[in-house]
Amino acid sequence: MDRIAIVGNGILSLASAWRVLQKNPAARVTIIGPKARTGSASLAAPAMLNSFAELVMGSLDHPIDRKKFSVSQLAARAWSDFLAEMPEYEVSRPGIGKGTFVLNNGSTDVSEDESFDAIVDYLEEFNEAYQWVRPTEIPGYSPAASGRALRAIYIERENFVNSEQVIQYVECALENMGVSFIDDCAASLEMTSGIISSVQLRSGECVKADSYLLALGANLTKLMSDSGIDVEMPKIFYGSGVSIEIRPRESKLSNCVRTPNRGLACGIYSAPRTQDTVVIGASNYVADYALDYPRIGSLESLMKGTMEQLNRDFYNAELVNPRVGWRPTSEDTYPVLGKLSIENLVVASGTKRDGFHMSPILSDYISDLLLNGNSELDELFSEWKPERALIRTYTREKAVTEIVKHKLSAMYQHDFVPPKSAMLAELTESIRTEVESFHDSLGAKDWGVHPELYDLYRNGYIAAEK
Ligand SMILES: Cc1cc2nc3c(=O)[nH]c(=O)nc-3n(C[C@H](O)[C@H](O)[C@H](O)COP(=O)(O)OP(=O)(O)OC[C@H]3O[C@@H](n4cnc5c(N)ncnc54)[C@H](O)[C@@H]3O)c2cc1C
Repeated sequence: MDRIAIVGNGILSLASAWRVLQKNPAARVTIIGPKARTGSASLAAPAMLNSFAELVMGSLDHPIDRKKFSVSQLAARAWSDFLAEMPEYEVSRPGIGKGTFVLNNGSTDVSEDESFDAIVDYLEEFNEAYQWVRPTEIPGYSPAASGRALRAIYIERENFVNSEQVIQYVECALENMGVSFIDDCAASLEMTSGIISSVQLRSGECVKADSYLLALGANLTKLMSDSGIDVEMPKIFYGSGVSIEIRPRESKLSNCVRTPNRGLACGIYSAPRTQDTVVIGASNYVADYALDYPRIGSLESLMKGTMEQLNRDFYNAELVNPRVGWRPTSEDTYPVLGKLSIENLVVASGTKRDGFHMSPILSDYISDLLLNGNSELDELFSEWKPERALIRTYTREKAVTEIVKHKLSAMYQHDFVPPKSAMLAELTESIRTEVESFHDSLGAKDWGVHPELYDLYRNGYIAAEK
């Protein structure tokens, strides 16, 4: 079992290849993926290595979410060893940017105050170090008066990396360790006697191996269906998101500065990218198709939100590079990770919003599966096994409440100003009625739709009976 073919060349692919070679230097690994990394979520990610700053009220209500959080915590501790253990060749080892400031500003509504309070409560519960800070003392933070935060905390162990540098670094290490890279896309998988026998490439070539890893992000479902492989696995959708690299005339930004998650996306943030550039993000549009380019509405609201809420001086920053990445968003929002009933096939996708952060741990597990067929970490990842019924952690009541909140929050992010009358209460009630009756139409009595999937259900991309 020492020939391994990996389809996809984002962080999960590269990290898994590295872990394989760490455990078995004799393994022969081939990585298939376009050099341009079309749609790579990994390249679009800033990448924040956040656990606590990603939480909102109720995030850890369910045991499955607590377990996911424990993976996130393991990852937070794993990053420095992950990079340090990897040999350094022509590309210098990337540094890890330290610390995240989380802001509580008045740009949306009270649900954001609840999210901010929830982060503080979880920090207390887990005894994680943080400090209250005066927003005016945050380096490189200079919002417009209307977007300024009145409360802020600093979480010292919530870090960030330059995802592009990490990708280049790992790729360079792997090349030097003998990994073959094929600049092409997988068109389909061939099966013989119930196992995968080769990967057919678009060029017409084929790649044969003993075991196969599909780590092609949001394109997983497409490849499975193009290959005619029908397994009961959550679909992966395209969570197209935009981040923008900018070059401010001057920036004192030294840490990640962000709002809590809001309105189905990750809020607004800025983090240093290179010596003289900063990355700002991010939008999120989930559909069963990918966006090839940023939508101008996303660019507009991202740039406007950043200038108003993070740094008004970004008005004269140069726009270096807007990136679109496809967050692999699964049909139940949880990762799809592990072995399939097809003996020599492992998949790693569905990491949505924090796969970069979790990659040092996910790759540890994946590499065990590729090399041994099982892992000591099996129990930790048992809920995310690929062939599963959809995970439903929301009660109907919680789902309805959260969907209404998220919809209103999204409206505020797009300049909604309610009149000073009963209209806001009426609007809230009418959204609630609509969400309730949609749940009725699904027959959802003892479960509710995850807020991030509501539009996918509404548009008929996810069937209720699954
Ligand atoms: C705007 C944005 C911001 C984000 N911010 C963060 C963050 O701050 N922190 C964090 O942890 N996560 C963040 N994420 C999520 C994170 O990027 C993903 O969870 C993670 O990078 C997914 O990695 P992957 O390797 O599975 O997929 P990808 O990085 O998408 O890699 C898949 C690769 O496979 C290639 N490919 C596609 N089809 C084929 C094919 N048929 N054959 C061969 N190759 C193929 C693609 O070109 C791509 O290079 C963000 C995502 C986005 C979009």
